[in-house]
Amino acid sequence: MAERMLKFVHTPQKIPAKRAADLRVEDFDEIYRRFDPSRAAEQASRCSQCGIPFCSIHCPLGNHIPDWLRLTAEGRLEEAYELSSMTNSFPEICGRICPQDRLCEGNCVIEKGFESVTIGAVERYITDTAFEKGWVKPVRPNQERAESVAIIGAGPGGLAAAERLRRQGYQVHVYDRYDRPGGLMIYGIPGFKLEKDVVIRRWRFLEDCGVQFHLNAAIGSATGEGAISFADLRQQHAAVIIATGVYKARDIGGPGSGLGGIVPALDFLTASNRRGLNDVVPDFDSGLLNADGKRVVVIGGGDTAMDCVRTAVRQGATSVQCLYRRDRANMPGSMREVKNAEEEGVEFVWLSAPEAFLGDGQVTGVRAMRMHLGLPDTSGRQSVEPVPGSHFTLEADLVIKALGFDPEDMPRMFAEKGLEISRWGTLKVNHRSFMTPVPGVFAVGDIVRGASLVVWAIKDGQDAAAQVHDYIRLSAPVAVAAE
Ligand code: FAD
Ligand code: SF4
Ligand code: SF4
Repeated sequence: MAERMLKFVHTPQKIPAKRAADLRVEDFDEIYRRFDPSRAAEQASRCSQCGIPFCSIHCPLGNHIPDWLRLTAEGRLEEAYELSSMTNSFPEICGRICPQDRLCEGNCVIEKGFESVTIGAVERYITDTAFEKGWVKPVRPNQERAESVAIIGAGPGGLAAAERLRRQGYQVHVYDRYDRPGGLMIYGIPGFKLEKDVVIRRWRFLEDCGVQFHLNAAIGSATGEGAISFADLRQQHAAVIIATGVYKARDIGGPGSGLGGIVPALDFLTASNRRGLNDVVPDFDSGLLNADGKRVVVIGGGDTAMDCVRTAVRQGATSVQCLYRRDRANMPGSMREVKNAEEEGVEFVWLSAPEAFLGDGQVTGVRAMRMHLGLPDTSGRQSVEPVPGSHFTLEADLVIKALGFDPEDMPRMFAEKGLEISRWGTLKVNHRSFMTPVPGVFAVGDIVRGASLVVWAIKDGQDAAAQVHDYIRLSAPVAVAAE
């Protein structure tokens, strides 16, 4: 083993080639190229095969990272794929969009002074190759079970649960209000981070596994012809998993906040993603949700804001500024994405908060104030205080609000009083069993955690599937209702 591994001393870290900024802003393709086989093996061989692999400990899925790195270094890619897919339902997606600097790679304890192993890029390479070589085979359960499970929401949480439950032989029905599965992976996250073909490939794969998708199917409280109520689902299925994510955009008030041209981030990103998928998007064509030829100001400092600024650049904005009330060191967004945005021409206006929106009918500017960081609050985070008399104006034709998301009122949406919510509005579950206080109803992903990460939604979905299996096995068998 030692011959092939521990190469970090002589082999420097090489991340996959990044396309030049002036070229990549011309399209919505991913910005990182793929490793070629020899580079993947070379980079995997830098791993020092730690006895206690901190990379795995800090991967939410506990991936067997050193083992699949070794198999990749030895050219045993099919085995690497099998091992990698045992713990991760969608390794090629996590390899692309996990914030590795905060998770696996950020905790790679390769000798001090050497840069981490490029774990995410290798993970992506293994499964992309597996798809191309035909090693990714549809799930064929040993035994089909009569019981069916309903999953509300086809984001990563719901899809991971679907995959695991199909492996157990359940009849899996996924309901989503949208016309394509993927949740935020299809309509939120832009193609330059995660190309849509990658998400669609998983959709097709799950269909081949026997998962039944019911699209354009919003689950709600209404009963009657055509409507699907939560109560109907409970009646028709042995268990229900709620994986509906969080979508209620936090808003901003103040003078002028009702002017035209001030739009929520997810509307803007969804329109762009739909356009990329060749859908008809009237609000994009009319210019309402299109940054082409405009001076754009994005308010917020998280990953959604980063996706908005970089989307605006690609749409042909004449200028893109990001207004954030804290400084670079204290922003929630990934540093890697800030760097990518800066390379693409985005200007960050740190320590500044909007005070009013200017314009007559249509927004023409944002009046902002400088802020400074004060004393830490009880959570340890420094407070933000305005600097008196520090007003300034940014000219803008389009203002995008990227201030985060809260959950919908789920007990009301589903007319199910038994569902309980936390003080943050998220669904309360038993953290071991993922079950809500309503028997047989489970919940996973952002609707439980609040806005989080794809990898955590996958983890919840996988774990909840195991709990649903136990729940059904221990309950009296339930017949499948006709669709
Ligand atoms: P979602 O992905 O939100 O999926 C929920 C699904 O439920 C949706 O398809 C929705 O249509 C459906 N649904 C909701 N209500 C109903 C209903 N009543 N009936 C039927 N269907 C319903 N995470 C990362 O790890 N890396 C990133 O780079 C990253 N970038 C992001 C960029 C943006 C712009 C955003 C907004 C988020 C980003 N995230 C990222 C976070 C990540 O996308 C989420 O944490 C993750 O998608 C949550 O998964 P989920 O399955 O819980 O919900
Ligand atoms: Fe790293 Fe995410 Fe892959 Fe885990 S799933 S190894 S955190 S990229
Ligand atoms: Fe390899 Fe780094 Fe993980 Fe150690 S921490 S096993 S060197 S990838």
